[in-house]
Amino acid sequence: MSDWKIIVADGLDEIGLEILSKAAQVDERAGISPEELIEVISEFEALIVRGRTRVNAEVFSAASNLKVVGRAGVGVDNIDLAAANLNNVTVVNSPYATTQAVAEHVLALLFSLARSIPAADGTMKSGLWRKKQFMGVEIKDKVLGIIGMGNIGSSLAQMSKSLGMQVIGYDPLISAADIERRGANPVNIQELYVQSDFISIHVPLNPETRGMINGGSFGTMKRGVRLICTARGGIVDETALLAALESGQVAGAALDVFAKEPPGMSALVSHPKVVATPHISAQTAEAQARAAVDIAREVLAALQGDPLRSKIV
Ligand code: NAD
Repeated sequence: MSDWKIIVADGLDEIGLEILSKAAQVDERAGISPEELIEVISEFEALIVRGRTRVNAEVFSAASNLKVVGRAGVGVDNIDLAAANLNNVTVVNSPYATTQAVAEHVLALLFSLARSIPAADGTMKSGLWRKKQFMGVEIKDKVLGIIGMGNIGSSLAQMSKSLGMQVIGYDPLISAADIERRGANPVNIQELYVQSDFISIHVPLNPETRGMINGGSFGTMKRGVRLICTARGGIVDETALLAALESGQVAGAALDVFAKEPPGMSALVSHPKVVATPHISAQTAEAQARAAVDIAREVLAALQGDPLRSKIV
């Protein structure tokens, strides 16, 4: 075993901890506070996080021995990439581990919206039998607009096509030919808004995408559209969404991510046309095990100076 010390600041599946422990000393500190992390980080060559821990400039400047930060999962919006770069720290993630789990959760949310499953279940659990209240819509032949045709967007496109949906996709960073290869008809954002019966969002959160789905977007969308967001809180303007739900412009929304997490009993979460889940899209046993294995291998590769598969900076 080497002398490397690795701190695991958020929960990591046992299988990842096993791989790490064979090659390094592992300090499992799930739930560590920001203050404690800053206090101890100088002892470690590697830091592994999920989405909870904020790895900001303050952490990087205290981390005198840090060589690599590993994010078990996809989104790296909790890591200050400029500060990592400035401090010569490599950042890696596990970009493919959770794709299937998220795409499946989107389908679960899509069906939940189409058939009001959570609300119907709620009435049954209150001893009621309300058939008329729950007139649904079918998804076959409906247009699904996917914003962001990366790993999850592409996987969703394939699955929803096999369910008989017409899939259109918008992604300015991917060529039209590639969007088509990934299972969607390429469109611009206005066409996507106008044509879609369902819209699902799969872009990263960055300065460009923050608030990209706003009042103007809702105004352009087909009346009665249903919206799904499993990407990141902050991409959808929640105040504008609430207004669009109230006016009937948006018939329903399914949200796994929120501008503030947890959001508490916000007007949006408690809205009857909203299906809400607590950021669980990637929360399957399989995805968490895959993310732990992938990130453990990638962090060790970074420490050993081996070629990396998912280097972000
Ligand atoms: P990815 O990097 O494979 O795909 C993202 C795509 O978005 C890319 O193809 C990129 O070109 C595109 N994109 C970037 N800016 C865009 C813009 N302005 N308009 C349209 N497209 C744009 O990532 P992924 O693995 O598909 O993940 C997508 C999102 O899902 C990320 O935000 C990630 O954080 C989130 N996610 C959430 C969970 C969860 O638990 N809810 C789990 C995994 C991933």
